[in-house]
Amino acid sequence: MPRPPEPTPTADQRLTDLFDRSISYLRLSLTDQCNLRCCYCTPKTLTEKLDSLELLTYEELLRVVGLAVAMGIRKVRLTGGEPLVRRNVTSFIERLAAIDGLEDIRLTTNGVLLAEHAEALYAAGIRKLNISLDTLRRERYHEITGADCFDRVWAGIEKATAMGFAPIKLNVVAMKGVNDDEFLDFGRLSLSTPYQIRFIEFMPMGKGTTWEKGRYIAATAIRERLAPLGSLEPVASGRMEGPARVFRFAGATGSIGFISPISHHFCDRCNRLRLTSEGKLRSCLLTDRETDLKAIIRAGGNDEAIRKALIATILDKPKGHTLAGDGSGNCHGQMSRIGG
Ligand code: SAM
Repeated sequence: MPRPPEPTPTADQRLTDLFDRSISYLRLSLTDQCNLRCCYCTPKTLTEKLDSLELLTYEELLRVVGLAVAMGIRKVRLTGGEPLVRRNVTSFIERLAAIDGLEDIRLTTNGVLLAEHAEALYAAGIRKLNISLDTLRRERYHEITGADCFDRVWAGIEKATAMGFAPIKLNVVAMKGVNDDEFLDFGRLSLSTPYQIRFIEFMPMGKGTTWEKGRYIAATAIRERLAPLGSLEPVASGRMEGPARVFRFAGATGSIGFISPISHHFCDRCNRLRLTSEGKLRSCLLTDRETDLKAIIRAGGNDEAIRKALIATILDKPKGHTLAGDGSGNCHGQMSRIGG
C-alpha cells in the first residue's frame, strides 16, 4: 500500500513532541570560540576551532529564528562558546529583538566582556543575564578558567546590576575539591545581593575536561552544605523560567537555584531545542542526535524545508537523557559547540 504523503508543515504549526511537551525555547550557540578555558567545559588542549564559514551567518540565524517563532518559539537564549566574542553580536541582537512574537531574549556569558558591551546589550533589548562564576576568589578563578579575569567579570556584574539588568543569575558549576568550600560564601552572597546563585551539577561532557566521578556533587548534598545559613523556602517560578528549583533564605535579597540534570532530571518538562554553532539542530543537550540544518539551508532549502527540519528534530526528542553521575550515558558532544 502506498504510504500516505507526509503532512506539509504550516507556518502556524505548533511545536509539540511525541511526549506532549510543547517546545517554546530555542538556545543558539553563536560561536564555539571562547576567551576562557574553563576546566569543566573546554579542555586546555582544545586548539581546533570552527572556521567562521562553518558558523551560521546572522542572516541565516535570523531566518531560522523567524520561522521558529512563527511556529511557537517564544524564548531565545544566546550562548556558546562565548557569545560576546562574536563580532557585531549586539547589532544581531537588535535585529533578533525585532522579530514579531519573540517575547524573551536572554544571554549566557562568562562576563569577561560584559562591562564593555553592557550599554549596547541594554540598548539592544537584553535584560536577563546568566553569568558563569564558579568562585569568588581571584586566584582560583585563574586556575579554573585559565585567565586572570575575576576583577573584570566582577566589574561587569556590578555594572550590569547598576544599569538595571534583571534577573542576573550566577552559574556555579559545583565541583568537589575545586569550589565546594565556597558554597557557603555563595549562599551568603544571595543574602545581600539580588543575584540568583545557581548551583549546577557537574556534567560529564566532552573529551579532555577535568570531569571525574569523584568531582560530582548532587544538588541535595549542595543544599545540605548550605544548612548553616538557615532554611530555604521555595520560590515560585514563572512560565518562562528554566529548570532550576529556586529557593530563598528568610530575608534574603537574592535566591538560590539548583540545576540537577543528573540527580533530578527535568526531561519531562524540557521545552528546549538547540542550534549548535555548526548549524545543527539538537533536541537534547545530553543526547548526540542532530539534524544538519546548515546543510539544508546552504543547499538552497526553502522555508518549508526548514520547518520540516524543526519538526523532525522535535519529533526525535528523546523522552529523557541517559547521562549519569558516574559518566555513563551517550553524550560525547563538546559543550562550547552545542551551547551550554
Ligand atoms: N561562555 C558562556 C559562559 O561561560 O557562561 C556560555 C557558554 S558556557 C558553555 C554555558 C554554561 O555551561 C556555563 O554556565 C557552565 O556553567 C555550563 N557548563 C559547561 N560545562 C559544564 C559541565 N561540564 N557541567 C555543568 N555545567 C557546565
